[in-house]
Parts: sequence; structure tokens; C-alpha cells
Amino acid sequence: MKKIIIIGAGITGLSSGIFLLKKGYEVTIYEKNDFVGGCCTGWVRDGYYIDNCMHWLTGTNQHTKTFKLWKTIGAIDETSNLYQGDYFYKSIYNDEEICLHKDLERLRTDMLTLSVEDKKEIDSFVNTVKNFIKLNQEMSISSNIFNKPIYYLKSYFKYRHLSLEDLSKRFKHPLLKKLMIDFLPKEYCSLALIYAYATFASGNGKVYSKGSKAFATNILNKYIELGGFIHYKSELTDIKISNNKVESITINNVDVVTADHYIFTACPNHLFNNLLDEKYIPNVLKEKLEKRDINPIYSSYHSAFKLKKKHNPFNESTIFEIEPIRIGTTYITRLMIKDYSYLYPNKSDTIIQAFVIQNEDDYHFWENLNKKSPEEYKILKNEIAERIKETLIKHYPQVESTISILDTWTPYTYTEYYNSYIGSYMGFTFTKKSNLKDIPIKLKNLKNFYLLTYWQRICGGLPVGLELGNYVSKVIK
Ligand SMILES: Cc1cc2nc3c(=O)[nH]c(=O)nc-3n(C[C@H](O)[C@H](O)[C@H](O)COP(=O)(O)OP(=O)(O)OC[C@H]3O[C@@H](n4cnc5c(N)ncnc54)[C@H](O)[C@@H]3O)c2cc1C
Repeated sequence: MKKIIIIGAGITGLSSGIFLLKKGYEVTIYEKNDFVGGCCTGWVRDGYYIDNCMHWLTGTNQHTKTFKLWKTIGAIDETSNLYQGDYFYKSIYNDEEICLHKDLERLRTDMLTLSVEDKKEIDSFVNTVKNFIKLNQEMSISSNIFNKPIYYLKSYFKYRHLSLEDLSKRFKHPLLKKLMIDFLPKEYCSLALIYAYATFASGNGKVYSKGSKAFATNILNKYIELGGFIHYKSELTDIKISNNKVESITINNVDVVTADHYIFTACPNHLFNNLLDEKYIPNVLKEKLEKRDINPIYSSYHSAFKLKKKHNPFNESTIFEIEPIRIGTTYITRLMIKDYSYLYPNKSDTIIQAFVIQNEDDYHFWENLNKKSPEEYKILKNEIAERIKETLIKHYPQVESTISILDTWTPYTYTEYYNSYIGSYMGFTFTKKSNLKDIPIKLKNLKNFYLLTYWQRICGGLPVGLELGNYVSKVIK
């Protein structure tokens, strides 16, 4: 029986493992942490589970190919409890508010009520989301678009070279302007928002109601049931190559292990900076890493708060204006709060999270501070959580009596745990100038090694790992 070694027990590593076990290989995973799921995880503080991944899971519609793949790896099935909120997110500005409803005609009416002079842009936006709903159930953004119907192509090319900032400027009403740039960084291609919203509105982007950690554990259970092996606290530290083949790898600087094929599912930047010579970098990846102006990378700062459900003013994700708070190097003036009540159906308390996008400068700020003084780093991130708590009390006084901080973490947390570059968990940003070409899974002149990461397809995320896992099981012979 041929042996396969997989580095990393995130969703990509686990799903690859399952598809390969099904093909009859012997599979062993080495994972640096003592838990599975990688970025798709959550943890417990003061007895409360804090979720740190899923905002939407592409492939929750039972009639899609992606759902069938999730089912194959044991993640979800027809009996799974999946949650979908009434809207994707809500923007508030100048005492007015608007939600991206799952009902598109309701959104059109609400937008027109706010600003009839934006009718042309409103109709175009709503109709484009509708066109995407018709087709996006089976399609990832980077898949071949040229065999698609003409109505779709028209919408696609209208927005393909428009950033969210460009789109925002097309609206006249200040709240509609905010709505377009409240959820994703303004450099994103407008199609990213349209695509994500269409996935949500179509019902193909619900969330697993037990949370991201339970979702990853379901996949682990399937992997173990099929006979897969896993070693925790086992970090890949060296790769030995001879005759264009990986001969062996070293775990934790001590254990040398061998296999017929090796699959690497952690960050490619970590791979090429620490473990493999630069000559193996695929050209597309090299180009993206170099051209950072058009391929920026983002991460996020979070703080989690516990409060009584009866005092919770939030529902889904809400973005509102605040007095400036400095987080990293950026002063934020709009705050996004995500409500996680669906995770606690039988409790009187709930958890909300402040979710703040951080750019590369912010990341370096946190990394440098942590290196200079872990104590100062800890103090600052907690001080920011306190500021956010005060801000919440000021804007929503009813929370004052029960709100408390449960935890706070920064972009650097993702690097500490997962070796991820710039604390990223979605890979390169999809901008209006992005090259949509996938990064190949085979490296030049390295026969038995496969690179499988969320960085390889634009927009990243959970389904990329699933699809790559399925794909590699067809490629390996
Ligand atoms: C806050 C947040 C929200 C998100 N929201 C969504 C969402 O709504 N929808 C969506 O689709 N996606 C979302 N994502 C992204 C999604 O979680 C990731 O894209 C996906 O989980 C990546 O999986 P992966 O297995 O490819 O990589 P990872 O999860 O990074 O897994 C790689 C694994 O390799 C391990 N590793 C690293 N280096 C080594 C080494 N040297 N040796 C051994 N092991 C190593 C790491 O510990 C890790 O377990 C979100 C992520 C976060 C953090």
C-alpha cells in the first residue's frame, strides 16, 4: 500500500486525507497544534464557546456538487442543522439603516425608499446578484466563465474591473455608499461582495449551527473511521530532496519519516521561506507575492463579549459609526459586531464579537509589538477590547449591566498558531486587477510533492480545501 504524508490538519489536510484513504492509500497527518481544523476552529473561555471561522459555508444547498463533497467527508449531511439569518449584514449611518436581506426584492424596495435617485445603480446591483444566484451554486469565481450565458457575462464584466470603493462612489446616498464598503476592504473587486451575498441569499451559504470546531471534528471523525493516522504537536521542520524527489521529512527537528507522496497544506510563504528552496516557487505565486499593490493580504482583530440575550441589540453582522479607535496602525470609525446567538439556543447568555479588518501594516505593528514585549502586546489588545466595550455601552446603554470581555486576539495570533503569512486566512485579496489564475498544486522539478492551500484560488476559504482535497486524490498515482 502506498504511503502519503500530509502536513497540516486544517480542512484541506483532513479532506485530502479522506479522499486519499478512499482511494486505498495509507495516510498520516502531522499537525503542529494539538487540535484539528486549523483556521476553522473555536475555543472555550469561561465555559463559553467562541467561534472563529464560519460566516458562510459555500455548499449548504443539498443539490450542489459542493454539498455532496462536504457529505463525503462527513462534515454535514441532510440531517445537519444549518442556520441562515434574515440578512447578510446591516449598515447603520446617520440614524438610518439598511440590510442586505436574503429577499432581493425587499432589498431593492428598501434601497429605493432611501434613495430613488440611485435607481439605476440599485437595479443594476440587485439584478446582478440575482443573475449570480442563478449560476453561482456550482461555480467558483476562478472557474472558466466563458461557457456561461450572456446575461451572466454582461453582469460579470460590468463589475469585474470595479473595486468596492468604485462601486460605493457610484451611489449618491451616504448610507448606500457605506453599505458597499462596510463588509470587505474597499480594495476588493465588487464581484467578491456580489458573489458572497448571492451565495448567502441563494441559501447555499448557511452556517453549521454547532460551529466551526464541531464542523472540523466531524471531518476528523470520518478520517479516523476510515483508518487515517494523525500526530499532534508535530511540526514539519525540514525537507530532504534528492533526484527531484522528496526523500524524507523531519518532524520537530528530530523524527525523520518517509512516504511515497507528500502533501503540504500550510502557508506557502512559510514553505518557501523556511523549508524549500525558492527555485520551486510556482511563477503565479511568485508574481502575486511580488505585486502586492494589486494582491494585498488582510487579517483581522477580534474581541469577544458575553452578555444577556435579553440585552443584546445585535442580530447577524451590524456595522455602525463610532468615535475613532486605533487598532494596529489604523483608526477605525466604523465597527462591525457579529452576533453568534445561533450557537447558544438554550442559554440566557450570548456571545458577540467585534470583527475589525487589519491590513499588512497593522499586522507588522502587532508582530513587532509581540516580539518587543509580549506583555505590552497583551496589555494593548486588552485595552482595545475595553475601548470597544465602552463604545458598545455608549451606543447601546442596555448592555452595560451584563456585558463582559471573554477574549481578544490579533492578526499575529494566526501566525503564531498556523505559521500563516500576514495573519492571513483567506489568501490573496480578489482585487479589480487580480490575476485569477490558480496557483498549481505540482511544483516544477519536484515529483512527489503537492502544494494544497487556500492561497491557491482567489477568495480562499473552506470550499477551496475541499475541492483541492478531492482533486489531489485524482492526480496522485
Ligand atoms: C475569522 C475567520 C473567518 C473566516 N470565515 C470564513 C467563512 O465564512 N467562510 C469560509 O469559507 N472561510 C472562512 N474562513 C477561512 C477558512 O477558515 C480558511 O480558509 C480555511 O480553514 C483554511 O484551511 P486550510 O486547511 O487550507 O489551512 P489552515 O486552516 O491554515 O490549516 C493548515 C494547518 O497546517 C498546520 N501547520 C502549519 N505549519 C505547519 C508545519 N510546519 N507542520 C505541521 N503543521 C503545520 C496549521 O497548524 C494548520 O492546522 C475564515 C477564517 C477566519 C480565521
